[in-house]
Amino acid sequence: LTDPGALVPVAVAHGDGIGPEIMDATLRVLLAAGARIQPLPIRVGEAVYKEGHTSGFTPDTWDTLRAAGVLLKAPITTPQGGGYKSLNVTLRKTLGLYANVRPCRSYAPFVPTLHPQTDVVIIRENEEDLYAGIEHRQTREVVQCLKLVTRQGCERIVRYAFEYARAHGRKKVTALSKDNIMKLTDGLFHEVYREIGAEYPDIAQEHQIIDIGTARLATRPERYDVIVTLNLYGDIISDVAAEITGSVGLAGSANIGPSFALFEAIHGSAPDIAGQNLANPGGLLQAAVMMLGHLGQHEVAEKVQNAWLRTLEDGVHTPDIAGEHTTQKVGTREFADAVIAR
Ligand code: ATP
Ligand code: MG
Repeated sequence: LTDPGALVPVAVAHGDGIGPEIMDATLRVLLAAGARIQPLPIRVGEAVYKEGHTSGFTPDTWDTLRAAGVLLKAPITTPQGGGYKSLNVTLRKTLGLYANVRPCRSYAPFVPTLHPQTDVVIIRENEEDLYAGIEHRQTREVVQCLKLVTRQGCERIVRYAFEYARAHGRKKVTALSKDNIMKLTDGLFHEVYREIGAEYPDIAQEHQIIDIGTARLATRPERYDVIVTLNLYGDIISDVAAEITGSVGLAGSANIGPSFALFEAIHGSAPDIAGQNLANPGGLLQAAVMMLGHLGQHEVAEKVQNAWLRTLEDGVHTPDIAGEHTTQKVGTREFADAVIAR
């Protein structure tokens, strides 16, 4: 038995762009709330790429990651131009993080949104599809990207979605794909969804084509509960879902594999607002709350979540979510202070 008071090692990547600001804010909140974690900083991202490591990692980083088993990660900037591999894709594939869980809910009336009833969890397949990174140049003017979908990959993500729905008291799992056009790849996903769905008669099920599904998500998000979909579609619709709740800066995500878990905000490194104390740390903080749940520190998770909700309710807002309920428009640092005070 482990000592319940013992500190759990957590690898921490401060990231690029707004990353260091939102990570600093998040860690301050976690430690103030009594999270029993020992942050182990790792160096990844832009600076490491520019030293000539095309994956954005140095080899010793993997040892820290494997020892910790958990990574809290701020967004990373992949430098423009050829030769650099996406660090996010490398992490997901190397660590086998097959499920990407992205809850998006409204904080109405405190955060302005046209869709106050939104409460949807997007479960995105995280290793396959067009993200397998298999691209070829066929001629100077013809290039190709390969869409890889496996039965095993579909089974794992669809089962994960149904199990998630059951464990979290959710009523419906909607599958989104485009199998009217991609009959084999998306067709396989749909077929597996039907097969596995039959094992979950207690959960309502529906399938929609991704285009109309996205349109309805943007206009009537309240009709969705859990969504399961392929990698690229999941990436796009989770930005849509988060943005309609008020800001892409509000949503966190968990990337889950058999022996490793990575927690991050859904947004990118937002270089346009970096270094200006403007970024909303909410997405990374939501990811950190999921991480605390994963580590079994539920009472700390609840404390952080309640303090954060109270801060939003009190109208203490970063600029991206400011509106008629805002009483104080604050920067990243002051927002974290406000959460800690609560
Ligand atoms: P990526 O490909 O890494 O996902 P992206 O092109 O989707 O990147 P983001 O970095 O996610 O872009 O940012 C898109 C815009 O959303 C930013 O320019 C910024 O204005 C806004 N944004 C993103 N995150 C935040 C945040 N935490 N707080 C406030 N605004 C944000
Ligand atoms: Mg993005």
